[in-house]
Amino acid sequence: MKRRPTQPRSRQGRVRETAARLAEEFPDAECALNFLNPWELLAATILSAQCTDERVNKVTPALFARLPTPEDFAMAPLEEIEELIRSTGFYRNKAKSLQGAATRITELHKGEVPDTMKELVQLPGVGRKTANVLLHVAFNKPGIAVDTHVTRLSNRIGFLTQETKDAVKIEYELNDLISAREIGDFGMRLILFGRRTCKARSPLCDECVLNDYCSCAFTFTKGTTPQEAAGKRRSARATRKAQ
Ligand code: SF4
Repeated sequence: MKRRPTQPRSRQGRVRETAARLAEEFPDAECALNFLNPWELLAATILSAQCTDERVNKVTPALFARLPTPEDFAMAPLEEIEELIRSTGFYRNKAKSLQGAATRITELHKGEVPDTMKELVQLPGVGRKTANVLLHVAFNKPGIAVDTHVTRLSNRIGFLTQETKDAVKIEYELNDLISAREIGDFGMRLILFGRRTCKARSPLCDECVLNDYCSCAFTFTKGTTPQEAAGKRRSARATRKAQ
């Protein structure tokens, strides 16, 4: 049965409706990084900073073939790690983070990546964003990685009590608005949606499935007046109601 179209007004309503519509758009909200175990996901996520997932996926097979375990990373000469990851950019800092995280995991966690936020953020190079990726993708626990896409969309669509770029505030507010069971997939879908449709500079509002209630819909074209944008939103609502 087709869902009844709705134009939610409350923040929670917007989050819920967005989660439902994006679940239809992206049924498989999978992580684009290739990995075989939590350590490989952690290393790949560290490498993905300022780098595309495609590039990371090209680098990791040779990296993990040469250094399969955290202990191998902890023991390897730093220059060797740098050379293996050079093409992902910022390779000196990333190599230090990989070796630092690997050393702590080897010394304090018996070679296993920990599965709590508290322990994950104590690993060198691991902030809440990376920790949330691990919690959701590797350990199937609640966690939303608030990256640039989630930040932008949360502000544009109207999920927040006030505009902010503070990732921790956004994470906490979203956690209050959607169930723990759904939050991880919701975050993954927001990232996909931000990459493909709600792009930073030129969002594709005409073809967006949220354009009937998004606070910013149709406001990005140069010269568009607020009245014209509101008119386009009304027309998008009428189209959705008629479907
Ligand atoms: S309507 Fe436009 S600004 Fe709003 S979510 Fe869709 S693409 Fe982004």
